[in-house]
Amino acid sequence: MALYPGSFDPVHLGHLDVARRAAALFDHLIVGVYARPAKPTLFSVEERVELFQAGMSDHANVTVQPYSGLTVDFARASGAVVLVRGLRAVSDLDHEYQLYALNRHLAPSVDTIVILTAPNYAHLSATLIKEIAAQGGPLQGLVPDHVARALRAKLGRAG
Ligand code: ADP
Repeated sequence: MALYPGSFDPVHLGHLDVARRAAALFDHLIVGVYARPAKPTLFSVEERVELFQAGMSDHANVTVQPYSGLTVDFARASGAVVLVRGLRAVSDLDHEYQLYALNRHLAPSVDTIVILTAPNYAHLSATLIKEIAAQGGPLQGLVPDHVARALRAKLGRAG
């Protein structure tokens, strides 16, 4: 069993691609939606869970759950032995390596694997997507339709 943790504020096509590929590698994938990331979130944790769930409804071996506290504690409590992270570019590597090393220090029995982002999604970031949505820009090709609707409803723009 593997855990794909993140803040997913909101989930975009790059996240869903990583989740689908991880779901094909493991018997069961838990998507862990971190309740209180350091940065403020646009969507509540319940909304972030629902939006991810709606994007993975065709995958029977994926569950989406909120969590707080340490990621490795949630992994151990759920029986996950592997953390899955997505890697967009070399610029992500420093941060991901630091997380991996710290998590390994905290929980040597929980390993980390990295899934390289599909090239067509490597430019996606939830932060930039929120900026585009706030300006009423087009969201096709960045997020699924239900997330585009949620962004427009939340930000009150037509784009
Ligand atoms: P965090 O706050 O933990 O970085 P994010 O929601 O930003 O959470 O990202 C969750 C995971 O998805 C991370 O492993 C991140 O590297 C990965 N990720 C972010 N953007 C993309 C993308 N465009 N394609 C694939 N994976 C991505």
